[in-house]
Amino acid sequence: MDTRPLFGFDNSYAALPDRFHARLSPTPVRAPDLIALNDDLARELGLDPAQLRSPEGIAVLAGNTLPDGADPLAQAYAGHQFGGWVPQLGDGRAILLGEVIDTHGQRRDVQLKGSGPTPFSRMGDGRAWLGPVLREYIVSEAMHALGIPTTRALAAVATGEPVLRETVLPGAVLTRVASSHIRVGTFQFFAARQDIEALRMLADHVIARHYPDAETPLDLLHAVIDRQARLVAQWMGVGFIHGVMNTDNCHVGGETIDYGPCAFMDAYHPETVFSSIDRFGRYAYARQPEIAAWNLAQFASCLVPLIDEDADRAVAAAQKAIDGFGDLYAAAWLNVFRAKIGLTATEDGDADLIQRLLTLMAEAEADFTNTFRALGEGVTRKEFINPAGFDDWEKDWTDRLARDGRGAEAQAATMRAANPALIPRNHRVEEVITAAVGGDLAPFHRLTAALARPFDPEPEARDLARPPDPGERVTATFCGT
Ligand code: AMP
Ligand code: MG
Repeated sequence: MDTRPLFGFDNSYAALPDRFHARLSPTPVRAPDLIALNDDLARELGLDPAQLRSPEGIAVLAGNTLPDGADPLAQAYAGHQFGGWVPQLGDGRAILLGEVIDTHGQRRDVQLKGSGPTPFSRMGDGRAWLGPVLREYIVSEAMHALGIPTTRALAAVATGEPVLRETVLPGAVLTRVASSHIRVGTFQFFAARQDIEALRMLADHVIARHYPDAETPLDLLHAVIDRQARLVAQWMGVGFIHGVMNTDNCHVGGETIDYGPCAFMDAYHPETVFSSIDRFGRYAYARQPEIAAWNLAQFASCLVPLIDEDADRAVAAAQKAIDGFGDLYAAAWLNVFRAKIGLTATEDGDADLIQRLLTLMAEAEADFTNTFRALGEGVTRKEFINPAGFDDWEKDWTDRLARDGRGAEAQAATMRAANPALIPRNHRVEEVITAAVGGDLAPFHRLTAALARPFDPEPEARDLARPPDPGERVTATFCGT
């Protein structure tokens, strides 16, 4: 037996006072079986993949044994869910094992998700079933490969235990890695309790961990706003719909977190909603920036007591920071979409040019991913019901590319690097989950391998770029529980 410690833990969240968390161990499961291990990520964390694959490693990834140096805990947080205030949420089915310093010197959380009940479970069983575990594994790793800040998936383990949902389903545990698991809702938890001391400690912790250049809570607010603006702009650029942008799912370090009923759009339409629990379209594709601003306003109000002793001055400064979101987002969005149409320099009218294309795409229900990918390959016209409209746009675009003046080769390269050929299409994710529930993991492994190269796929992966046929279309995704 290998006696080296699996993880070189260096825990900082556990050192915060008791009211930040509940200490407890994962609940063991009957028959752990490793489904997937992310070797590259393991190495990046300074871990040995072979050791993680051993029975001792798998027992840890299942929550059956605690690795040396772990200080397991469930984090306390609150949040607005679909706009409604919930004073206590917290990790109801996740347990932080500890933190490691990765090979780049970055602090990373190692968390088990689906690892049994905690004091924050409320009515839940603390478990996850295989479907959402594989969905999060696939989509979070795809996001990473797309260059979008995100939590990561280190491993998935089948538990050998049933989980009761609408039906009986196979249970699983995901090992999630994140730069932290601190959410806007973590700040809200303490702000709602008027626990200024805890708020100050949390702000200091977040500054040290995520924003070492920030000197004041106001700097922190500006930095979080900036990262969220960029993050949401990147989501928009790949047609990603988070699905549950509650404040407890809004990460203060600017990572995409809590993949529940999320999805990538196939046909472009700004009002697209997938989540079966989002009945009013609160978190539709086009509303994401507005919702991010709303979440950030909740964050700002938590920080008010730390910003200035004078409440009026603090509110004014916080408000000014929030008012800046719109411009930051607009600039980030333009950067993302300018590259998608092959441009680098800035010109007035670019936003308009991009918007005109999006309007044509919406009218034609053009596939979001493939239309942009095709622009660089000159084969886009067939996507459009109104080809004349596209021809007008293309003429203006060609003129604009000429003014950008970098030559066709460079422009095509910009577009190839900004427009993925592969995204985790919903019908493929569903297909993978169905096969996995039936015991066949081959489609899961094939899809994750292909999605690791979204901009430059292997020729064998081309079929994964195909949009769903009408019969394959997935119109709703269900909550991550
Ligand atoms: P989520 O939708 O995953 O962001 O979760 C929202 C809240 O519900 C969090 O406090 C979760 O910990 C909790 N939760 C979700 N599923 C479960 C479950 N199966 N058991 C216990 N708590 C859960
Ligand atoms: Mg959540």
